Amino acid sequence: MKLRGDSLVRGQLKEDLKKGSIAHAYLMAGRSSEEKKEIVMWFVQGLLCLEPEDGHPCNACVSCQAWLQQLHPDYHYLQPEGNSLKMEQLRLWNSFFRYRPNLGRHQVFLLEQPELLTAPAANSLLKVLEEPLPGTVFLLTTEDERSLLPTIVSRCRVVYFRGGGEKLGSGEEQEADSFVRILKDGTPAKLLKELRLLGSDRGVARNLLQAVLTVLEREYRFERKSSLATCLSLLLEGMRQLEENASVPLVLSLTLYRVQRKLQCGSTIVLESRDENG
Ligand SMILES: [Zn+2]
Repeated sequence: MKLRGDSLVRGQLKEDLKKGSIAHAYLMAGRSSEEKKEIVMWFVQGLLCLEPEDGHPCNACVSCQAWLQQLHPDYHYLQPEGNSLKMEQLRLWNSFFRYRPNLGRHQVFLLEQPELLTAPAANSLLKVLEEPLPGTVFLLTTEDERSLLPTIVSRCRVVYFRGGGEKLGSGEEQEADSFVRILKDGTPAKLLKELRLLGSDRGVARNLLQAVLTVLEREYRFERKSSLATCLSLLLEGMRQLEENASVPLVLSLTLYRVQRKLQCGSTIVLESRDENG
């Protein structure tokens, strides 16, 4: 089983490449890491590659060759200058929007730290995201999606990177599975009883949320239910609150109670929506 670090994220993106169900825009959320960088770059190459094999770039086609030489004409990158991303910077991209990809299957626009866009620049980006151009894919990478305009987030397929995760041991995995069973079939009283037994150790709490997240992420890969997506966001929010020194029992009980409700009464609407692009 491949649960280490962000291999699940890679799996989700690989599925998108394999099925050709590429979103017009992705928000790559979560702490920066070498692994996150590597996965984002691998995904860009996968989007550009002319003959991907099983969701992986082929490393051989003319598009991959250009990518490997860091000379790809369809890859456009922006990062903040100083502590903001300005309108003038974003304007550099305008001319490319008129053209079809040169070499690759897509034109890929990577924007780092969109939370630092000035207000006019954010509005301008929003406009571009609202009117998708065929053959373009936007990748926004951020550590803090909460500081982005919700209108921007809602137009992106959000991918969460956790970073630094370890493969679960088989004991831990069993524990996580039995906990998920309580979330799915147990009563709130049963859940609270289990949580009381856990006590208020921050590390234990974090591991528990992480383990539940890993199990539900795995399910989400196979079945993209909106209720599961909501649970993943709730768990990530809980983990953040733990890092911010919020009360451990409070975070655990509130987060997992919400997850339990969502899993037991959540909608089953499938999230294969809008933003396909051909
Ligand atoms: Zn290729």
